[in-house]
Amino acid sequence: MAALPVSLIWLAPDLAPGTELSVVLKLLLVLAVAGACAMGLIYSWTRTWPKVAERLENFADALPALETQLIEEGPEEMQRLARAMKAMAERVRQVVERANLELSRRETILACMAEGVLAVDKNLKVIFCNEAFAQAFSTRIPIGEGRSLYEVVREPALRDILERVVRTRTQEKDRFQLPTAAGRSFEARALPIGEQPKQGAVIVLHDVTDIERQEQVRKDFVADVSHELRTPLAAIRGYAETLLDGAIEDGENNRKFLEIIHSHAVRLNNIASDLLVISELDSNVPPPVPPDRVPLLEVIESALHTVESAAAVRGVRVISEHCVDCSVMGYRFRLEQAVVNLLDNAVKFNRAGGSVTVECGPTEDGQVRITICDTGIGIPMEDLKRIFERFFRVDKARSRPAGGTGLGLSIVKEVVESMGGMVTVESQLGRGSKFSILLQAA
Ligand code: ADP
Repeated sequence: MAALPVSLIWLAPDLAPGTELSVVLKLLLVLAVAGACAMGLIYSWTRTWPKVAERLENFADALPALETQLIEEGPEEMQRLARAMKAMAERVRQVVERANLELSRRETILACMAEGVLAVDKNLKVIFCNEAFAQAFSTRIPIGEGRSLYEVVREPALRDILERVVRTRTQEKDRFQLPTAAGRSFEARALPIGEQPKQGAVIVLHDVTDIERQEQVRKDFVADVSHELRTPLAAIRGYAETLLDGAIEDGENNRKFLEIIHSHAVRLNNIASDLLVISELDSNVPPPVPPDRVPLLEVIESALHTVESAAAVRGVRVISEHCVDCSVMGYRFRLEQAVVNLLDNAVKFNRAGGSVTVECGPTEDGQVRITICDTGIGIPMEDLKRIFERFFRVDKARSRPAGGTGLGLSIVKEVVESMGGMVTVESQLGRGSKFSILLQAA
């Protein structure tokens, strides 16, 4: 700009007639100088572009990491571009941060899930599986990329359901037992995931083995209870009908029939009370009072008193020996019931002139032991492992008339275990049995 007035001042003396050549020359010189200056300016201006462009490029490459600083420099347009890129980078960072947070949340949830989760792509290549799935199928995680489902789990049932879901794009439910998962049973729910061309399927496996087992135990228990009730009920009904049909007048037999009805009614009563105890123990609801210190001598004394008359009737001697006073923490009425059940069996499965010995005292490792030893009929070796099962009896013909329910020992086991202890048995057929209760001393 300043060049123009300077040039005019410089040319002014030559603006007289006859000096045209000099003017033209001077003008040309002025133009040349101005052109050179402009070129110089343009050159130096454009030389900064690549540097600025390179910085912008580096900044874009480093996204979403924001360690790289972007200096706003160069021409105004470049500075505006740099500002826009900075704002965009901030937005990208927020989006990436949100996505990472969501991903880690999802990964944590999947890792904590008790259900096994496995995802495959449309070619049944494993994309993901969680900890629970890996544990159920003894697979190592993370699973290497591109491994097929069949390489990871050789389970046709899983492959079939996932194949169908990928093909039909509809969800499916099924329940199956999987040999490769140690024969455990699963309820499976498979759903399609993703859109074309990245579709696949995910399967969620809920382990229902324990639920199935419990269902079976409950069914068996109901069947056993009905079976146990049927016998005394049928007998009571039969003898009552016989009496009603005229046997009541039969002076020789009517008393005998009534005695039979009475003994079956007693049995029904025993079954009902044992079932009540079992349902109480099964419910896991603690008694309304808190556990207390239970002195063993008192428990044993009271239990001995309970079986005294039955023992006398059968001619069995019941003695307590080497009983050292010690205590446990728990519920007295439950422990007493367990000891009575063991004493009752020791008397019931004994012979006239036989004996039952009770001992109790501390063990060397800070526990207490109650032992009930009898000289009775003993238990066959092969039955010892089933002896604590509900309704198990070695000899039904012998247990039932004696008022046995087949629930006594299962109650003992549950009571003792609920107090954190254990019950064991040793026996010799024809010689006698020894039951021991081991509990933590209080
Ligand atoms: P029950 O009501 O029949 O006595 P239990 O559960 O108490 O039921 O005992 C189960 C079975 O174990 C009995 O039927 C009996 O065959 C056997 N049994 C238990 N205790 C003794 C024992 N002291 N001597 C021999 N057999 C026993």
